Amino acid sequence: MSNTKYIFVTGGVTSSLGKGIVSASLAKLLQARGYSATIQKLDPYINVDPGTLNPYEHGECFVTDDGAETDLDLGHYERFLSVPTSQENNITTGRIYQSVINKERKGEYLGKTVQVIPHITDEIKSSIKLLGEKGNWDFVITEIGGTVGDIESLPYIEAVRQLRWELGKDSLVIHLTLIPYLAASGELKTKPTQHSVKKLLEYGLQPDVLVCRAEHNIPQDVRNKVARFCNVEAEAVIASLDAETIYDVPLLMMEEKLDKIVLKKLSLEIGEDPDLNTWKTFLSKLKNPKNSVKIGLVGKYVELKDSYKSIAEALIHAGAQNECSVEVDWIHSESIETENASEKLSSLNGILVAPGFGERGVSGKLTAVKYARENNVPFFGICLGMQCAVVEFAQNVLGLSSSSREIDDKTQHPVIDLMEEQKQIEDKGGTMRLGAYSCSLEEGSFAHKAYGTTKISERHRHRYEFNSRYKEDFENAGMRASGINPKTGLVEVVEIQNHPFFIGVQFHPEYKSTVARPHPLFIEFVKAAAKKT
Ligand code: GLN
Repeated sequence: MSNTKYIFVTGGVTSSLGKGIVSASLAKLLQARGYSATIQKLDPYINVDPGTLNPYEHGECFVTDDGAETDLDLGHYERFLSVPTSQENNITTGRIYQSVINKERKGEYLGKTVQVIPHITDEIKSSIKLLGEKGNWDFVITEIGGTVGDIESLPYIEAVRQLRWELGKDSLVIHLTLIPYLAASGELKTKPTQHSVKKLLEYGLQPDVLVCRAEHNIPQDVRNKVARFCNVEAEAVIASLDAETIYDVPLLMMEEKLDKIVLKKLSLEIGEDPDLNTWKTFLSKLKNPKNSVKIGLVGKYVELKDSYKSIAEALIHAGAQNECSVEVDWIHSESIETENASEKLSSLNGILVAPGFGERGVSGKLTAVKYARENNVPFFGICLGMQCAVVEFAQNVLGLSSSSREIDDKTQHPVIDLMEEQKQIEDKGGTMRLGAYSCSLEEGSFAHKAYGTTKISERHRHRYEFNSRYKEDFENAGMRASGINPKTGLVEVVEIQNHPFFIGVQFHPEYKSTVARPHPLFIEFVKAAAKKT
């Protein structure tokens, strides 16, 4: 395809309408038609990245191969498309301002007064075009966070208005709105959508396609009405109904012909309907499980399920692969104590101890590890979860008065310690060990069998690591370091072989699980859980 096409996705009426999923679904449909597509998220907050945000604020922080700490929507993009994203796929207001201010300090604006328009908007525009200019993509889909009318998102809308003007036929605006159903009158109401489009028009932006979230099917006369009031064609009014799973949305969008209308408006050939067979097979396995397992997810942010989004999705992918439904029991780590461990954990087929930061909840995590280890319950520890597995083993098997340096600064045996390169670091943002690192797996280990190869690469986000001084003691007592970073020698994977399934990983495998490529460790974990009686 000659020119990269730019599709902008804005939202109106309320937040949480599912812009990320609609964007990912559209990209999936375009990809299935043989086009290459990437998705970018513009976040209007002042944080330079979401890495410094508490998960309660914004859900999980997703990490890319290049070590960017990003919005969790990028996780959806990767899970749908199986194409890696990068720092360029997530821009925040903080990052835009930081870059403009750095340029100003270097004198790059040659004495000009630096203003929102044109300097901030130019910076936004170049961040959008940067992806397209690489020549790798037929489509760059840019999702604008927030809701039209928010003060914070104004510069983004203005940048899109200017880009629409510059790009002309190579661009398109999709606006997502809500058509609420009033039970009392039994009617679908279009007024909020009309107002939302008017707001967009006030800023000079005319949407080409409206995707309307609704709880009930939107009849043709309602679509006609929306079309008439909002200057769009009736066929460009797309209904997005509540779905049983987010993975239904690409198929629902295909039924509504979202991809066709987009291609038509961009003057591209429509061609045959896309082949979504692999996707459909996944959905059919997901919806027709042959058995079921209950996995306890032990973490301290369980009140907000989005905090563990990628883990929850990876379990769904692995469940489908095993034709097994996975019920997640969200267990607050602070609620687990020695006295109630059996009551809380005995009905589980598997225990996953989640990533996390700080001391709070760690004692419950250690108790959960001990329970899994002693009772032969399949165990999967991720990042802090792996570190807890190491500490628990040191305390209860090696009999050491030990801990992780993060939890107890003065511990006699810091079996998990601060990494050397982290010791001088003061800034909190973007300074952890981040992104993809390679790892060599020991021949014959659980991990090796699961991956089917000894050379892997996984993404990281942590400051502490296994203290190699203790490696031999662990190995002699039955906990093997089965995955090692070949360059630094850092321990990446630990496992206990005399157990049905006990594995801890310093990296985050959940970030790489996709619909097309469920993650091997999650697959094996669910498989082991299904075997547990
Ligand atoms: N807090 C731990 C560390 O920084 C683990 C981090 C995590 O679980 N992502 O090393």
